[in-house]
Amino acid sequence: MARIFSGIQPSGELHIGNYLGAVKNWVQLQATYPGAIYCVVDYHAITGSYDPAVLRARRWGMAKSLLAAGIDPAQAVLFMQSDVPEHTELSWIFTTITPLGDLERQTQFKDKSSKMESIPAGLLMYPVLQSADILLYRADSIPVGEDQIQHLELARDTARKFNAKFGVEYFPEPKPLLTPTRRIMGLDGNAKMSKSLGNTIGLLETDEEIWQKLRPAMTDPQRVRKSDPGRPEVCNIYQLHKAFNDEATVSNVAQQCSTAGWGCMDCKKVLLEGMVQELTPIRRRSAELDAEPQRVLDALADGGRAARGIAQQTIAEVRDIMGLGSTGLAG
Ligand code: SF4
Repeated sequence: MARIFSGIQPSGELHIGNYLGAVKNWVQLQATYPGAIYCVVDYHAITGSYDPAVLRARRWGMAKSLLAAGIDPAQAVLFMQSDVPEHTELSWIFTTITPLGDLERQTQFKDKSSKMESIPAGLLMYPVLQSADILLYRADSIPVGEDQIQHLELARDTARKFNAKFGVEYFPEPKPLLTPTRRIMGLDGNAKMSKSLGNTIGLLETDEEIWQKLRPAMTDPQRVRKSDPGRPEVCNIYQLHKAFNDEATVSNVAQQCSTAGWGCMDCKKVLLEGMVQELTPIRRRSAELDAEPQRVLDALADGGRAARGIAQQTIAEVRDIMGLGSTGLAG
């Protein structure tokens, strides 16, 4: 059966950007791909300076909100990357077959390292660990956003190189499974929604908190007065309607906007209704998990065991292919 793998940074509780851009899709995919493997990639969160207590809180927040958002441990494997040390072993192995030039050309490395005085080697090796994350589970398909395709290319390349070097057909070349929702812009309408830019709406925020953020959110800049017709396609609020409301509501929004039937505040109130409808069950599940935190720990422990079982088998086979380890040494 086809296997999918995807990872998410431990950035604390989910916001609507990473929910719509990834996790909502994960929830749908777990029914189509039983045993889908979802990982909180905490080894990836330590390449810069960080506070361990903050990291711990963020890992917890992410794990809890993934379960609240609908990841079901009965259908999917959810775990913390650092509970499966085989990720780092395979990563080391892949550093031996990955050309340095390929890593130095990665856009993310160039962007981040250009702002640093001292560049940690981990920042350069980050995509190697990503390749290891994927190939450790010999996943066939990887749910990704458009901006992650470059990293997947490296994983495909690594699979090819390993297979060619050792004359085996061991690692499959994982294919991208493009996430249907395009990337979600922040409320400022300028950049991708991101906690570090403060332009997000948290998945667990109250109705009032969401409204306080929606009210000043950027709309079509050409719509200065209520009587000015708007251009829904250039408005970020319209994109959010598409994510949270049904087709009939979305088409009504487009009509009301382009004919100046509604003002932007009317439009945002309709968006709020759609958001509240989708987010209410998620908030309820989150409150239940707050009351029973052991459920989160149990899900991670079970997921970690299941993931490690697969990972240990892969590592044993990789060691055998590469002539490593002492098993069978004398024979
Ligand atoms: Fe955007 Fe809605 Fe205002 Fe149109 S009416 S510009 S879609 S907020």
